[in-house]
Formats: sequence, structure tokens, C-alpha cells
Amino acid sequence: MRFVIVFLACAVAIFGLEIVHSSVANGKTTLVFFDLKEDVDELKIGKKTYKVFFTPDKQKQYALIPVSYYHKPAAIKVGFRDAFFYLDIVDGGYAKEKIHVQKSKVNPKSEAVKKRTSKEYAQAMKIYNTITPTNYVSKPFIIPLESKITSDFGKARVYNDTLKGYHSGTDFRAKVGTPIVASNAGTR
Ligand SMILES: [Zn+2]
Repeated sequence: MRFVIVFLACAVAIFGLEIVHSSVANGKTTLVFFDLKEDVDELKIGKKTYKVFFTPDKQKQYALIPVSYYHKPAAIKVGFRDAFFYLDIVDGGYAKEKIHVQKSKVNPKSEAVKKRTSKEYAQAMKIYNTITPTNYVSKPFIIPLESKITSDFGKARVYNDTLKGYHSGTDFRAKVGTPIVASNAGTR
């Protein structure tokens, strides 16, 4: 990886580029800043594009680059205008979590259940893919409640001995009806 590191050092000097973490674990997101003079509107990884925003103080531009859980360790090329840089994707080393549930819950046969879950999946993907040009997050994030975390972010979830995905949230133990607070502002 020496080549990549050397290249990144040059990239910072040449392109007014600041990569907060050039080494990123699968399932995580990295942040890239640009000097205003770069006037970048989007980044490209393969055919995918990532929008570039202005920081609230309008002093810099930035982009968030999420890395899929399913991404294998590799160097990925990130293009912007006619330049590019590399990100080094590393294995997040997530622990496994074994969960035992009814067989029918792992691979549901019911058409009605399949229809409902695919509809919910589409709704969730629509939300995940929605971006607003304005940043409504104005303060540091806080935890929504003081309680034991029963499953943290990133655990590889093995249902009845079958790996079905990764935990993309954090679970807190609480009784039904426990008040929770929003972890940040973020809506209009
Ligand atoms: Zn959860």
C-alpha cells in the first residue's frame, strides 16, 4: 500500500484534497474535503456518482463516501473532474452474532410476506438514497437513551447458521414505552 500512501500525499498537495480516513472499513463512511477553488460537483466510483456539498460555513466542499458491507478489501479509485485518488478498503473485522428464530422467519415462503418485505425494503432504500442540499444536522450526535447496548453496529448476523446480513443499527435494551430522544436535529 506504500504506493497509495505516497500518491495520496501528492494528491493532497496538488488537488487541495483532504481525505479524513483514506483507509476505510467495509460498512463505514469516509469524508473527503475539497478547497473551494477545486469547484467539484460530484465524485465517481465506477458508474456511481456521489454529490459534493458545501460546508455550513461555505469555506470548503465535502462528500461522504459510504462503503458497502459487502465490499471486499481493495483499493478503489475515486474520480472527480479529470483527477482521481484511491481509498483503501479494509476488512471491518465485525464479530458474528448468532440468532435463533423460527425457520419461516429466515426464508419466508408466504407471497404476502415476501411482497410486504420487498415493499418495506424499497421504502428504506428510497430513504437511504434521499439527500438534501441543506445540512440540518447542527450539533454533535447524542445517544437516544441511557441503556445497555444489546447489539452494536456492524455485527454479522447469522440466523439459524445462515449469514443473512449485517446489523446497520445499534440496539438498546429498554422497556416498551421508554422515552427516547432524537440523536440530532435533522428535519425541517
Ligand atoms: Zn437493530
